[in-house]
Amino acid sequence: MEDLKSKIKEAASIIQKANYVCAFTGAGISVESGIPTFRGDDGIWDKYDPLMLEIQYFLEHPEKSWKVIKEIFFETLGEAKPNRAHEVLAEMEKRGLLKEIITQNIDNLHQDAGNKIVHEFHGNARYLICTKTGERLAAAYADLNALPPIHPATGGLLKPDFIFFGEGIPADAFQASLEVAKKADVLLIIGTTGEVMPASQIPSIAKDNGAKIIEINTEPSNYTAGLSDVFLQGKASEMMDQIGDMLDSGS
Ligand code: NAD
Repeated sequence: MEDLKSKIKEAASIIQKANYVCAFTGAGISVESGIPTFRGDDGIWDKYDPLMLEIQYFLEHPEKSWKVIKEIFFETLGEAKPNRAHEVLAEMEKRGLLKEIITQNIDNLHQDAGNKIVHEFHGNARYLICTKTGERLAAAYADLNALPPIHPATGGLLKPDFIFFGEGIPADAFQASLEVAKKADVLLIIGTTGEVMPASQIPSIAKDNGAKIIEINTEPSNYTAGLSDVFLQGKASEMMDQIGDMLDSGS
């Protein structure tokens, strides 16, 4: 316990002294907002078939995919609010202690907490794309009582604006994330296994460019042994709350 406390202190001190702190977040940061991870115990894949989120399957069976999408991303994710970990990141940005966030999440909770610079590696479930015209619209616009939802003006099938299996990463988010990885002198990794390519490469690019790596996770990840300089094993909200307090007191 004492050991964890001193590691949290060390992490806060590294952040306080750095010039360009950035965060790289995964599904684990949103678990305490009530959104399950995909993998792991009680993960989304325990209940649903990942095939439903393959792009080819979606285009061929949009009604079946949409039934699952509605349950996971509108009913589960729709009500979620930022937790303490999101809030501390937003407070850090306001105080100039955090510059940019790269997130693999699609839940919009960093923006809800108040962060302004968020690079969404896998898109955002709050928006839809018209597969006919490419127009982007707010998800609230879709009529989910009749699946699959169709754009009333174009007749095009609407698809959530997040990355399905078999789709590429949005070029602008990818490019911006690579730049962040090169600029950061500290990368704060929160709640990610490091298994989802190509996002998982971001921390090693940051490390190769001289960044110190601080990691928060309830379990060791692919980064813990070889990459992380400070590993804080615990829940994202608890670890970030304590880091936030130490930054406040300047210790
Ligand atoms: P992931 O790589 O994002 O891993 C989740 C990690 O969170 C695990 O390492 C786990 O140990 C850790 N974790 C669990 N609870 C935690 C807590 N309370 N505090 C800190 N860490 C905690 O893997 P995934 O879940 O397979 O997700 C893969 C991809 O799926 C994501 O990158 C994302 O694109 C998408 N996804 C998004 C959301 C979301 O938007 N909230 C949720 C699930 C999946």
